[in-house]
Amino acid sequence: MGYNHEYQLALANTEAYWADQADRISWFKKPTKTLTKTDFGTYSWYADGELNSAYLALDYHVENGRGEQVALYYDSPAAGKKEAITYNQLLDRVARFAGALKAQGIEKGDTVLIYMPMIPEAAVAMLACARLGAIHSVVFGGFAPAEMAIRIDDANPKMILTASCGIEFDKTIAYKPLVDKAIDLAEHKPEHTIVFQRAMVKAEMNRDGDLDWIEVQEGVDPAPCTPVKGSDPLYILYTSGTTGQPKGIVRDNGGHAVALSYALNNVYGMHPGDVWWGASDIGWVVGHSFIVYGPLMGGCSAIFFEGKPIKTPDAGTFWRVIEEYKVNSMFCAPTAFRAIRKEDPEGALSHKYDLNSLKWVLVAGEKLDSSTYHWLSDLLKVPVIDHWWQTETGWPMTAPMMGWDNPSEARLGSTNKPIPGYDIRVLDGDGNEVEDGEAGNICVKLPMPPGVAWSIWNNNDRYVSSYLEAFPGYYHTGDGGFKDDDGYIYITGRTDDVINVSGHRLSTGEMEEVVSAHPAVAECAVIGVNDELKGQLPVGLIVLKAGEQIEEEQLQTELVKMVREQVGALACFRSAIVVQRLPKTRSGKILRAILRKIAAKEQYKMPSTIDDASILPEIEALIEARGAI
Ligand code: AMP
Repeated sequence: MGYNHEYQLALANTEAYWADQADRISWFKKPTKTLTKTDFGTYSWYADGELNSAYLALDYHVENGRGEQVALYYDSPAAGKKEAITYNQLLDRVARFAGALKAQGIEKGDTVLIYMPMIPEAAVAMLACARLGAIHSVVFGGFAPAEMAIRIDDANPKMILTASCGIEFDKTIAYKPLVDKAIDLAEHKPEHTIVFQRAMVKAEMNRDGDLDWIEVQEGVDPAPCTPVKGSDPLYILYTSGTTGQPKGIVRDNGGHAVALSYALNNVYGMHPGDVWWGASDIGWVVGHSFIVYGPLMGGCSAIFFEGKPIKTPDAGTFWRVIEEYKVNSMFCAPTAFRAIRKEDPEGALSHKYDLNSLKWVLVAGEKLDSSTYHWLSDLLKVPVIDHWWQTETGWPMTAPMMGWDNPSEARLGSTNKPIPGYDIRVLDGDGNEVEDGEAGNICVKLPMPPGVAWSIWNNNDRYVSSYLEAFPGYYHTGDGGFKDDDGYIYITGRTDDVINVSGHRLSTGEMEEVVSAHPAVAECAVIGVNDELKGQLPVGLIVLKAGEQIEEEQLQTELVKMVREQVGALACFRSAIVVQRLPKTRSGKILRAILRKIAAKEQYKMPSTIDDASILPEIEALIEARGAI
């Protein structure tokens, strides 16, 4: 299959191209409409088709002779447990748990919040919701109760599904108290919390409506699949925007199923029976698309790993997993390999294992720096493939098509070429396309292909203002970068107030809200500075209230604690620098774009609107002196 031909085909004949792809999955009722324009300017796919995502992930394979194949290999160095779960067994567990949810009143269209560690029950929870046509919203286990509460109030879940604990390296973290606190903080009160009791921590079932995971399944009938429409939501996944309020990205059932099957086969080159490892967490989009739904819909055996790249028990754990399950292809964020390299610079531990099953490694989520790229490809001697996507898209936008003959070569610094369906353009501030090689805003001409979120939960206006308004006719990714003469895309970073810490997307605005609540803080700006290990780290620039005497060190300690408690440990907020003032426009707006450039050590032009230009070198020197850059 030639890339140019296929890419042009998808561009010139969009509906026919994706109608053809839709024919390759199993529908209860085939869609008659391929593309529908919504009344707020986005596009939905396969709106009137009927299907069920859990059916595609499980029943379909059992009906087609894959019942005895392993669906999930649960491997938990954290808990000292391993389990190989076949498609038959997973279907049985999901249908029974769906029956239990149904018995507790969960129906099609209800929302259910999932706050769980990487245990198979988490996948069971997601798929059981999908089976009933209920909409799940997974919240990453590292988020603090206040963040969970925001999501509870936005998604209004009828129920919360959780486990008694998660495990961070060798420490257990009790989840039930966090869920209870979140419910206390939230205005909306879910009717029930169903708790899976893990051996290492017993959760107290102390609230009305608390239910035990095992007990709720006793005596209930397994639930059949509820047909849903192609345009019905499968899940809500919150992601950081530029304000303190996260955005509830809504994924539909139809477009998602077609896109994931397409991506798994064509982009990732995976086929039924292959062993696939998405080394992430179900709390992130990668976990949704390429730990649970994608590999299962594609009939693969998927690794479900509960552990870290290091210290569980050592920096050889990834290599051990690859050997043990004969992993054919894996995906993770570059930060995981940076962590491994830090512990084992020569990669000596990798030589203990047979890694011959591995065909290639895919990385995404943050910039792949050249030294990590070289280290990894020299060590593994397989292609290391950078590719680019976002929570909103749910599947890659640029990547080599590994499932085709002659996939595009890797080019260092580039996340490769646009995938068919994504008409990627680089625009200047006025919406005009820039020349090849020139930097600008990376946008995608509408319509976006199937699978890409086309609404925000309960807030379509926010979808329009976040993605469609800046450049009419285009989806605005929020990333900056350029295209080379051969059509390769280079992502240079965000153009908004979103930073990327260890591949996790965080809003600096969200942290600023926490920091400015400190009684000594008059105003602040949180910016992301470059970090060798984590890509970026947040640093708070703080202006104290007049007459405030607090020491910088004490202020920092207090702010670090506040951000940890209110956003979560994943924010890695560790640095607060007291500054005399912040750079502002004459109309009083903080010049964040300039601060971002200073933090990234990029050249900046003094903006003509700046109120007092002398402040910039002052801040640069302060950040440098703290060793924060
Ligand atoms: P998330 O929605 O959390 O997956 O974050 C998406 C953002 O991560 C993108 O908008 C980019 O800023 C960044 N990102 C994802 N993949 C890459 C990549 N391969 N190279 C550089 N940045 C990336």
